[in-house]
Amino acid sequence: MENISLKHYTNAELLAEVQILVSQERTLSLKVISFLREIRFRSLHLEMGYSSLFTFCIAELKYSEAAAYYRINTLDIVDELPEIKQAIESGELSMTTLSMVQSACKAKKRKTKIKVSAEDKKSLLEKVKGKSKKQTEAILHQHFPELQTVAKPETEKKLSDDLIGIFFNADPELMKKFKEIKDLTAHQNPSPSYQELFHMMSDFMLDRIDPVRKAKRALRKDKIQHKGESQLQPCEVESTVENTAEIPPPTPSRHCSAKTERVIWTRAQSRCEHVDNKTGHRCSETRRLQLDHMIPYAVSYDSSEHNMQLLCTQHNLYRAKQGLGLHLWSRGWERDQVNYSVKKA
Ligand SMILES: [Zn+2]
Repeated sequence: MENISLKHYTNAELLAEVQILVSQERTLSLKVISFLREIRFRSLHLEMGYSSLFTFCIAELKYSEAAAYYRINTLDIVDELPEIKQAIESGELSMTTLSMVQSACKAKKRKTKIKVSAEDKKSLLEKVKGKSKKQTEAILHQHFPELQTVAKPETEKKLSDDLIGIFFNADPELMKKFKEIKDLTAHQNPSPSYQELFHMMSDFMLDRIDPVRKAKRALRKDKIQHKGESQLQPCEVESTVENTAEIPPPTPSRHCSAKTERVIWTRAQSRCEHVDNKTGHRCSETRRLQLDHMIPYAVSYDSSEHNMQLLCTQHNLYRAKQGLGLHLWSRGWERDQVNYSVKKA
């Protein structure tokens, strides 16, 4: 960063100049929002191996989680109410305030299944114009009394290299379930800490739903069944995964077998397999994964592990749109309606 000497500025010049710079900063922030919108419109973040614009902003643009969150919330609210751009440029509405309003509206939708209308959001924004974070909080509490039951937001805080403090709210029903689990497992550990309890519950759950653990269990079962039989039995899942040289015969169904599914989940290590061809960056998403035919089944008749991949929802959708030649389909009409022109700085 360039060192600028400000010693020659008079006090009046210094105050006037900082006003100009802050105004430019706000214009620039809006410009960044416009660029993010275009990146989302073109699905560039998906192409580059990110399952969301949020992860793209953190990894590629080096924003903090909070900064990325504020910008994406602002982007969403500006998309819905483009007329508020003037208030952002004038400084009447900050990204923090906008983000708080957008988060409260989302929370209301999550809780009541009712979407806050654009008109309601607009009148709310009028009320929070020029208000501080604390004042905005008070206005939102008054406007959404149904959200006040949320005592404190959930937090994760790194306490040391191998310890993370987690805070979350538990209702009486959950506390009752914890007690039942403690009672039922008292023969193993009569007084488990919450950490031990969560370890136990996580292991139990993962044993039931994690395809990789299921595959390993199936492998152990397979080994026991084939013990004493032919030494030539291919009983290592890993060796099946690595053996990609052999092209399999066509499979009779678009759905792959349970065994093939286990092989794919093991190969992918329960993670989205989309890779950006240019950079080699692989998507890190591990939630809501789906199986996808690399070459459509209607063309390949192949549902073997060689033609199947594990993709997150966003990359599965992205690939489907690409396959249909509709990669610019999403949100296209919205962009034309909004006339989201970028101001020249
Ligand atoms: Zn993905």
